[in-house]
Amino acid sequence: MLAIEKKRLNELLRRMNRDFQVYVPYLENGTGKFAPYQEERELYLEMNTLLPPKDIFFPQTEKMYKFRAAGNELEIEEIAEQKEKQVVFGIRSCDAFSIDCLDKVFLSRGYEDAFYKNKRENTLLVGLACTAVGDTCFCQSMGLNPQEAVGVDLQVLDLGAEWGFKARTAAGQELLAKYGDVLHETGASPLPAEEFKLKVEVEGVPEKLSRMFDHPVWEEVSRKCLGCALCTYLCPTCHCFDVSGKVKGEEGYRFRCWDSCMFSEYTRMAGGHNPRPTKKERVRNRFMHKLSYFVERYGQLLCTGCGRCLAKCPVNMDITAVIRKIKEAEVE
Ligand code: SF4
Ligand code: SF4
Repeated sequence: MLAIEKKRLNELLRRMNRDFQVYVPYLENGTGKFAPYQEERELYLEMNTLLPPKDIFFPQTEKMYKFRAAGNELEIEEIAEQKEKQVVFGIRSCDAFSIDCLDKVFLSRGYEDAFYKNKRENTLLVGLACTAVGDTCFCQSMGLNPQEAVGVDLQVLDLGAEWGFKARTAAGQELLAKYGDVLHETGASPLPAEEFKLKVEVEGVPEKLSRMFDHPVWEEVSRKCLGCALCTYLCPTCHCFDVSGKVKGEEGYRFRCWDSCMFSEYTRMAGGHNPRPTKKERVRNRFMHKLSYFVERYGQLLCTGCGRCLAKCPVNMDITAVIRKIKEAEVE
């Protein structure tokens, strides 16, 4: 396997950053997040980031087009496509799978979101195997391997004193060939991942949920939710957005921004009717979407087990506890 000494990783990233816009994990004011590579900054590779790399492909706010009134005519200017090639270095298995979920939403079933597609097609993913496992991580229970990310071009493995690289795609192979002069062959073996502290059995849950739309469990589960939407904003797979506009004088622009099904306004219609009027319907929808509707539509769960929502929810809403409740619930 090709490898680099850990203390020399910056040499590789510096080289890569000349050819690509490289995103890496940093700790910023105590919050782990992906940001453009800067040589002088210390990387954060110990644990997963609190903020997922979703916004690299699907920014929190994104301009779609500009417009300008010129007499009776309306001039529309599309926002230029991003041409720059980028690399997301250090993406964990849970977040790599979340990109696969977003690909299903934005690029499949005959619909292609041009904004997402452009960024996605210009991005290479470099996965980072987990050895330390967080208290709220449960990706293994969701069928993922913390050391083998789905859909990455290159997988980085922790070899102790070195980082090892395994190509997963032809593009990953090209990356290794391109920077081969800073890599060496090694016989070292990858360190294993720690035992998961949090486990949950999800088998049968999607099917059971299809018979639980009117079950009393939703009243109980939703009682403590504050409707703050933090869970959906931190979630690497949540992808709802709203389209809005800004106008000043004769010109303006349209943009989209993240939205959340946990807000009451999310489903409120122009006439005032709201099909999800209370927390019960909103919380039910969140879990139904993650654990049942998405499975029906795309054949996979919309939860990667990253654990962010349960780590940060102010009232400790825990999706693994909800899954257990669903498993235990009596249904006719
Ligand atoms: S973070 Fe917790 S309290 Fe806030 S909307 Fe989500 S489940 Fe409800
Ligand atoms: S629902 Fe929670 S655990 Fe699942 S992917 Fe979203 S943030 Fe992670």
